[in-house]
Amino acid sequence: MNKGSLYGSTGRGLIRWRQTDICDGRMEGAFADMWNELIDEVRGQQSCLDMLSAAWCAEYGTAGGRIFCGKGCHGCCTLAVNTTCAEAVIIAARLTDQQSEAVRLHVDCMRNHVYPGMELKEYLRMHRREIGSCPFLNREGACSIYAIRPLSCRSLLSTMDSHWCSEDFTSLSASVKQEFVESLDRQVVAFPTHYAASPQEMAQEMEARANRLMMEKFGFSLYGSLPVLVHLAREHGLAEACRKGKDDVVALITKTKLDNPLLLPLTP
Ligand code: SF4
Repeated sequence: MNKGSLYGSTGRGLIRWRQTDICDGRMEGAFADMWNELIDEVRGQQSCLDMLSAAWCAEYGTAGGRIFCGKGCHGCCTLAVNTTCAEAVIIAARLTDQQSEAVRLHVDCMRNHVYPGMELKEYLRMHRREIGSCPFLNREGACSIYAIRPLSCRSLLSTMDSHWCSEDFTSLSASVKQEFVESLDRQVVAFPTHYAASPQEMAQEMEARANRLMMEKFGFSLYGSLPVLVHLAREHGLAEACRKGKDDVVALITKTKLDNPLLLPLTP
């Protein structure tokens, strides 16, 4: 086993990420247990969701339904993706310097476009138009962190042709929107989207469980923008700040000018 003190460690040896051939994002050192239990929990949840989603897809297929997601389609990767803090910590431990730089540039762009008091609707529209694709999308149009992608990405299954996943609905005519809505299978989708509801509901329950566990361990929970959380974990010692407490996390988020509830809502 190859062990090393990685980016984001405290510099005082309190927490080290363990680097293995197949790095699992777990940590070593004092206080690591606080994180490792969370990391094990979300990794287990991710495997569980994959199995449950596959079973759901098989059943849906037997009933005559079809899921259109496939290799190379990536329309949903321009949506604003949120994740649990533990999932971000796992991803941060796996990034190459090149990926890390792409995340940094992406977060810079988000910081420049999100302003205090911005409405959620406007944020979501702006995200797709101005921010662009997820920094983990590679040149081939595939997810470069597929094996460790978060629950929210795993749960998004399209019941319609993939071109709908990149459609900007605000620019469609009323008649096209109407046609789209009428074509949805309301028994199956998270209306008014064309994404299957069941996998998303399962993922949301799992995220809620991970957030509760974080609350138990740290006294607060942190959930929010995937690139922002990964960037903070990778470049700014988020894991260690969480261990110190909510005040340190708030200070970190403020210092990095990412203190906007659209990016990172903190509870309680
Ligand atoms: S993590 Fe992967 S699947 Fe999720 S939005 Fe980014 S590129 Fe797409």
